[in-house]
Formats: sequence, structure tokens, C-alpha cells
Amino acid sequence: MNEPRHNVDPAEVRKFESVAARWWDPESEFKPLHDINPVRVDYLRRRLPLDGARVLDVGCGGGLLSEALAREGARVTGIDMGETPLAVARLHLHESGLEVDYQQATAEAFAEHHPGTFDLVTCLEVLEHVPDPASTVAACARLAKPGGLVVFSTLNRTLKAYLLAILGAEYLLGVLPKGTHDYEKFIRPSELDAWARRAGLDLQDLTGLHYNPLTRTCRLVDDTDVNYLATYRRD
Ligand code: SAH
Repeated sequence: MNEPRHNVDPAEVRKFESVAARWWDPESEFKPLHDINPVRVDYLRRRLPLDGARVLDVGCGGGLLSEALAREGARVTGIDMGETPLAVARLHLHESGLEVDYQQATAEAFAEHHPGTFDLVTCLEVLEHVPDPASTVAACARLAKPGGLVVFSTLNRTLKAYLLAILGAEYLLGVLPKGTHDYEKFIRPSELDAWARRAGLDLQDLTGLHYNPLTRTCRLVDDTDVNYLATYRRD
């Protein structure tokens, strides 16, 4: 789909383009996404029945979450602005035998053509990479059916998140390439909630996600100081 490229930071998309070939390598820079994926799917499974659900995965990248949801029986569409991640995602379907409809689009452009369509819209680890996250949130809300769910995950803008996610993960441990995240673009749950409420979304759940890159373990926690997941219901 050749959509207008508004609300896209080309430098952010390039970051993912350049490393996309390693997306499915669990020892690559995508290691953290591989490690947290089962916990994210478990979280989503507890929010709604995934079998048969119509799901849109916004900023799907190489398709880790899209495929996992398809494996649960969901009918998944994945959108991203990166061409290489989408190519990797499409190729991987040959390996997995799963079906996912991958398209190049922003949430805003997709919402113009598919408003009120999805039981679940996921937008995980994307908001901190777009120029205008409030616009992405509003587009995700438009894409959900009335009564449908929209789930976001991102990083909180706290000192602890700076120390762990940037200083620790990028500079000390090197589990993520330097420059992956920009502290200024981290989002407080209160900010996300204000954008969401303006878009007609009601908060259903807010849960922290703790990831330890040394032990490569991940679990859901009450503490939302670093990574967190937020579930909203469309009015
Ligand atoms: N959601 C996936 C991938 C997260 S990486 C997961 O959690 O496993 C962030 C992704 O967002 C990248 O694939 C990048 O290309 C994409 N992205 C960045 N800006 C975007 C935009 N404006 N619209 C759609 N996708 C975008």
C-alpha cells in the first residue's frame, strides 16, 4: 500500500531496516523481543479469546507477535512502515506455515480504509518510535470495533527506565544497539492515558513487564516504572 508517510520518522524506520535480516534470530539484537514474546501473548490471551479474533498488529516488524497470535487462531493483519521487516515477516510465513496479511501502512492511513474493524489492535514497542504518538493512539482507537480492545506497550519516562533500558541495555550489557531508544520519547502511563481518553478509549488494565537480560527471564509485575502494557476498550 503506497500511503502518505505522515507520522513516520524515517531515521527510526531505518534503524529497524538495517538489522531486520536478524529479526528471527533469538541471539540477535531482537533477543529481548523473543524473550518477552510468550509473556505478551499470555497477557493478551487473558484479555480476550484469541481464537477467531480479528487482530491488527501495528508496527509488526518481522512478525514475532503477529505469528504468535496467528498460532493462537487469530486472523491477523500486520502493518509496518519498514520494507525490510515486512519482507522478513512474509518470508518467515513459509517457514512457519502460518497465515498473516502483512501490509505497508501507518495506523493513520490504515484507519482511513478499515475503521471499526478489529476485535484487538496491538501496538507494542512502537509508540516510542513515532513522531506523534497521540496520533497513533487515536488511529488505533479508530481501527478497533466498538467494544474492541487496544493494547499498547512502551517504556515509561523515569530515571529507572533510563538507567535500565538505555544505560544498562545499550551501553553496559549491549543487548540492544546504541541509539535504539531515545529517553525523550519514553511515555508516562498518565500521558498515554490522556491521549487514549481523548480518542474514546477506556483503561481496562495497566501492568508492568519486568525483563532481566542477564537471566533472559520476563514476568508481569505491578511496577510500571520501566516497561508496561496498557489495555483499553473502545467506547
Ligand atoms: N511490534 C513489534 C516490533 C517492535 S519494533 C514487536 O513488539 O515485536 C518497532 C517497529 O515499529 C519497527 O518494525 C518499525 O519499523 C515500526 N515503526 C516505526 N515507526 C512506525 C510507523 N510510524 N508506523 C508503523 N510502524 C512503524
